[in-house]
Amino acid sequence: MKPVAFDYVDARSLEEALAALAEGGEDAKPIAGGQSLVPALNMRLVRPTLLVDLNRAGLDGIEANGGLHVGATVRQAALQRDARTHPLLREALPCVGHYVTRSRGTVGGSIAHADGAAEIPLCLAALGGSVVAVGPGGRRELTTQQLFVTHYLTTLQPGELIIETIWPRPAAGEGSAFEELALRAGDFALSMVAVVLRRDDGVARDVRVTVGAVSDRPTALAEAAATLEGAPVDATSARRAGAAAAAAVEPHGSIHAGPAYLRSITATLVERAALRAWEQAR
Ligand code: FAD
Repeated sequence: MKPVAFDYVDARSLEEALAALAEGGEDAKPIAGGQSLVPALNMRLVRPTLLVDLNRAGLDGIEANGGLHVGATVRQAALQRDARTHPLLREALPCVGHYVTRSRGTVGGSIAHADGAAEIPLCLAALGGSVVAVGPGGRRELTTQQLFVTHYLTTLQPGELIIETIWPRPAAGEGSAFEELALRAGDFALSMVAVVLRRDDGVARDVRVTVGAVSDRPTALAEAAATLEGAPVDATSARRAGAAAAAAVEPHGSIHAGPAYLRSITATLVERAALRAWEQAR
């Protein structure tokens, strides 16, 4: 199929993009890499009357000051190349679609699209990151808990754009690991997990266990994290963390994998990620 007819603005600045969105009203949509929006347009799942192209609006810088400040239209492949300071991103980004989609898809687009099985939103949540959004109400910074509502739904207001994502610098002694299971390379995950922890005086501190794909948005599992907190991570505690994660998630399942199987995958992925994050923290 082909999209319904729409007008198009090739915005050359953030101000121009915001003005065009404001003028276009609620049927106007921003387009970035188009790797999710164009298929939705072609299937007529969305029928905007105006597309505002962000690709030349000057939102494509990456700045390392404190953490990483990544412009909304930075390509996923570019972040994969530049994420030297964030091993979790280096592990997760190759799982985002295919090289060709990562070369066009953007970091801000993936966050705004808010697919519950998307790796970039999961990593932003796991690393305690945030987004900077600008719109008719001005500028605001949102944590992932404040941003993500459920599959494909965020708290972004009409006419509001993500202009930047902020990735805190890893703490001293921090280790992280990303694990996912997908049917084929490049597919969305059936289950995916990120574990981030700090190794402090021989024990794990500030442990965060975050899951995706088995939940409608990136979800922190406090119970699983608590099983690892304050002790060295070993096969027993990692298995306990996996069991706690499996008990905490409520996956819907699909024709590919039922809820029980998804729970069991999640347990295994948490176990592996916990042990690797502990090793990496060395
Ligand atoms: P677009 O498609 O341009 O836009 C997506 C949505 O976000 C639209 O609603 C748009 O209006 C909105 N939007 C875009 N930018 C902004 C902004 N700055 N502020 C506010 N709203 C904005 N993704 C994964 O995470 N994992 C995968 O395994 C995966 N596999 C894929 C496989 C294929 C074959 C394809 C085609 C895509 C796949 N994707 C996957 C999706 C891909 O990562 C997309 O790039 C991403 O979901 C959207 O980014 P985009 O820049 O293409 O955004």
